[in-house]
Amino acid sequence: MNTEFCQGCGVSGSPLMKFSLGKDFFGRPYDRLSPSADQNPKWYCPTCSMYKNLQRDFRDIHAEYDKLISGQRSELAKCDGFLRASVRLREIFTILSTSSQQSPLLAKQEVLLLMERLNTVTMPA
Ligand SMILES: [Zn+2]
Repeated sequence: MNTEFCQGCGVSGSPLMKFSLGKDFFGRPYDRLSPSADQNPKWYCPTCSMYKNLQRDFRDIHAEYDKLISGQRSELAKCDGFLRASVRLREIFTILSTSSQQSPLLAKQEVLLLMERLNTVTMPA
């Protein structure tokens, strides 16, 4: 079902895009979200849709970081995953820094904090 309002910023009268959760940043299907959540996509305006992607990647990376530091299996324990995550975080931060309006979905400071934390982790060999 479509709604008339963007579920990020609440704007109306703008073409809305369906945002459905499919694969996460590391290419895995979402497991912590039930498939029924995926069948209930949300609708976002173009700007929020872009932010939503950033937010999703940020969350994925954050979750893997939490696993890594608590000694669980983590995508960040792989060299490839670690590098991709670092690059992506920098991208996200740059996009947030250059955008004129503050995203309602993701704060620049949160991204910066995670970047700093990731820097303190030894890169996997
Ligand atoms: Zn919006």
